[in-house]
Amino acid sequence: MVAIPILMYHQVDTVPPSGTPLRGLTVSPAAFARQMRLLKWLGYRGLSLTALLPYLNGERQGKVVGITFDDGYLNNHTHALPALRAVGFSATCYAVSARPGGINDWDTGIGVAQKPLMDVPHWREWLSAGMEIGAHTRHHADLTTLSDDEAHDEIAGAKRELEERYGVEIAHFCYPYGRYSVRDKALVAAAGYTTATTTHRGRAHSGDDPLLLPRAMVANGTWPWHLWQKVATAYEDKRR
Ligand SMILES: [Zn+2]
Repeated sequence: MVAIPILMYHQVDTVPPSGTPLRGLTVSPAAFARQMRLLKWLGYRGLSLTALLPYLNGERQGKVVGITFDDGYLNNHTHALPALRAVGFSATCYAVSARPGGINDWDTGIGVAQKPLMDVPHWREWLSAGMEIGAHTRHHADLTTLSDDEAHDEIAGAKRELEERYGVEIAHFCYPYGRYSVRDKALVAAAGYTTATTTHRGRAHSGDDPLLLPRAMVANGTWPWHLWQKVATAYEDKRR
């Protein structure tokens, strides 16, 4: 079985002081650029979910890595985009569709620094640079707490909202907080998404359920040898 790592990033920015909650989710711009160069040097191609799909389906084989960003931080545009372009990689960034130009206010109360999200012009530049937009609900909702109607609005509504705004097909979804139920997965399928990513650890394998794809988190503490281990070995798979 062919293993396909899908990397999960959040913020690419100056790493906040130690003690800051969720600090590990921020990767410095220099570290991110190093990680992209390392993957390229190892012979991997970093791909958006749409470009990765033939590999997930088992139609194509090669050294590929999915690259994903959750939430749509402006620092992804500022710092990750140039590093991706420098090595010719593509990536999927999951947008909170009702919050263009907003902040990560869903993290309010747990002490996480509030950071700006990409605005509509940033997202357009993201697209025109060959990158992809995925959906991360309308309001970064914990789907498991919502009624059927509310969950439908967050899942199908985000797809419609992003498609109308950017004029492209939105085919990929990511469950906020990695939380979902059987119902939510059914709503993702009914809305017409092709894939959905979770926070389950592991590399994807061709033949996996495309609406429950596992990912490998890359954090502040992910050193180059550790990234290699996540991508090229069964290290992450054992933790599924
Ligand atoms: Zn998120």
